[in-house]
Amino acid sequence: MDYDITIYGDEILRKKAEPIKEITPEIKDLAADMLRIMYEAKGVGLAAEQIGRTEAICVIDVPEDCQDPDDYEKNKAIEMPLVMINPEVSEPLGTSRGKEGCLSLPELYMDVTRAKSIAVEYTDLNGERKKVRAYGFLARAVQHETDHLKGILFCDHFSPAQKLLVANKLKRMRRS
Ligand SMILES: [Zn+2]
Repeated sequence: MDYDITIYGDEILRKKAEPIKEITPEIKDLAADMLRIMYEAKGVGLAAEQIGRTEAICVIDVPEDCQDPDDYEKNKAIEMPLVMINPEVSEPLGTSRGKEGCLSLPELYMDVTRAKSIAVEYTDLNGERKKVRAYGFLARAVQHETDHLKGILFCDHFSPAQKLLVANKLKRMRRS
């Protein structure tokens, strides 16, 4: 199916995703479409809301060269691309500040504070419930994408000064 990436200002980006009850062929197709769209857009993650859907599913593929070598070693057990259905983040450890962007907020890159490491429980495309621990940039991507499924955008994490700095840019996005 063809989808457009939803842009900041679109109401669907503020919706809470609905849990997926069963891994149907439609859900598998949706996951494949999301991966294709993410790669085409050169993103490292995509949540269903970003293509106008409300199912609780997101996809992530963080390449090795985007990761700190230590984090990459620790993340090795996590198979990429990562398709996460009904994900739940828990057990945050530490904090880290780093640059983030979002396909739904084009050309906006800002530092955001996130947990340095998190655990995430999710259902995979085989219907199996899994729990993994992610570190560094991958942990950041998981937090960013699972936020989307709660209707939270990365600009919600900006400081008041950052919000002031990008206010006009966001206004333009909302209008377009
Ligand atoms: Zn995003």
